[in-house]
Amino acid sequence: MTQRISHWIDGRKTPGTSGRTSPVYNPATGQRTAEVELANGSEVAVAVAKAVTAAKDWRHASLSQRSGVLFAFRQLLHERTEELAAIVTAEHGKVLSDAAGEIARGLENVEFAAGVPALLKGGFSEQVSTGVDVYSIRQPLGVVAGITPFNFPVMVPLWMCAGAIACGNSFILKPSEKDPSASLLLAQMWKDAGLPDGVFTVVQGDKEAVQALLVHPDVAAVSFVGSTPIARYIYQTGTAAGKRVQALGGAKNHALVLPDADVEMAADAVVSAAYGSAGERCMALSVAVAVGDVADRLVDAIAARLPKLRIGDGTEADTDIGPLITAEHRDKVAAYIGAGAKAGATVVVDGRRDDVPAGGFFLGTTLMDHVTPAMTVYTDEIFGPVLCVVRADTYEQGLALINDNPYANGTAIFTRDGGAARAFQFDVEVGMVGINVPVPVPVAYYSFGGWKASLFGDSHMYGTEGMNFYTRGKVVTSRWPDPATSAVDLGFPRTR
Ligand code: NAD
Repeated sequence: MTQRISHWIDGRKTPGTSGRTSPVYNPATGQRTAEVELANGSEVAVAVAKAVTAAKDWRHASLSQRSGVLFAFRQLLHERTEELAAIVTAEHGKVLSDAAGEIARGLENVEFAAGVPALLKGGFSEQVSTGVDVYSIRQPLGVVAGITPFNFPVMVPLWMCAGAIACGNSFILKPSEKDPSASLLLAQMWKDAGLPDGVFTVVQGDKEAVQALLVHPDVAAVSFVGSTPIARYIYQTGTAAGKRVQALGGAKNHALVLPDADVEMAADAVVSAAYGSAGERCMALSVAVAVGDVADRLVDAIAARLPKLRIGDGTEADTDIGPLITAEHRDKVAAYIGAGAKAGATVVVDGRRDDVPAGGFFLGTTLMDHVTPAMTVYTDEIFGPVLCVVRADTYEQGLALINDNPYANGTAIFTRDGGAARAFQFDVEVGMVGINVPVPVPVAYYSFGGWKASLFGDSHMYGTEGMNFYTRGKVVTSRWPDPATSAVDLGFPRTR
């Protein structure tokens, strides 16, 4: 019998009742390995109702009790990293070391959130007026939801749930239906860490479950990570329903390689960031802008590295690049290569080779040179192992390309010139910037988020912005006057 991947409601695995499911594959073999339940509106309503009840109690848990649960959860994540990574690789396809890497980066968010007693400290002003004090506190929102993409089935949920739970909310996760199993192990670990039932919930599903969460009156806030069209819809629908929403979208991240860069180092960095996780990262570098005479040297150096990358099953120790998530996605990426070639790009290395393993959703690495901004291979987020090289005459031309792009998630400059790097950091209109750092994902105590079409909403994810997102501020003005001094005063209160 095919394995069923269920919901997690009120502290236990809960079979679905909708009768709708979606297939889950092992992308390395192409085999269908399970069916995931797809929740309908009434199943979402049950999950929300349990989360509402749980939130009422959880906000009473002291800061040190909440912090204690996060410390215990952190320990379990350490102990069960291998098991969790194996689940990720089996459904996503990324290599095991990469899966362990995403767990490690997610774990940083748990560590940060464990500092909640310090993070939620408010302000206090004594004697703002005679005998009057003012202090600020931050309180949880109640029930918050997180809707996550397939490409980081552990890290992105941890970006959200660690802070949300630490702040005293109940958290409902709607993971990607393409790799849903990791969510259930996370749920078990939260329970084992001592989190009360109902504070962490998993609702499996597709757009029907998402829509139900977006309009449910008891869901106070929604965090989303995924593609730009869905991010825009989530933001518009969620805010129209009166919710606080942060919706992170897609990307087209450019590397700017200046003529003075160490070409070998830049090529190592660009190859790592373009082809790691088969290019299925929102922070992947998918465009290298080669300035001036560095272009030929850079293209040669990148091309020389590609035959050494082994494409295969992510569970095998010598694999560098796993498969893509589905056969459809693999075919879509391959079609982009064809379209780029037809539009006049030079295909230096073509991933549509037949030396990739059979059976799974594999595609080789592709390097395209002389790409122009008019080509679809440039304009669209491809989300595969395809790197485009665009040639620019000057730094200013390269910078203008990046600033004209509708996406603005990440970017990186490669140079030995500190002044050029400083100018780039100042001028570039992108949310996350690397200086000789190819994948500048901020550490947990900063916040993650792009600009423009890569983010809808005002708040970046995790870090202090995350703690603010999952709480609302309250300011208390207090006095303990001598009753003898009391009098009616109809004037507007002023400081005295
Ligand atoms: P996706 O937008 O297809 O799906 C994301 C989530 O939305 C999933 O949970 C999915 O079930 C749900 N969803 C899909 N279609 C929907 C619809 N019509 N209505 C409501 N919900 C819907 O994204 P994906 O393919 O899972 O992930 C890849 C995308 O995510 C890429 O565009 C990538 O750049 C982006 N991403 C962005 C970041 C970031 O931080 N900016 C991080 C990771 C991934």
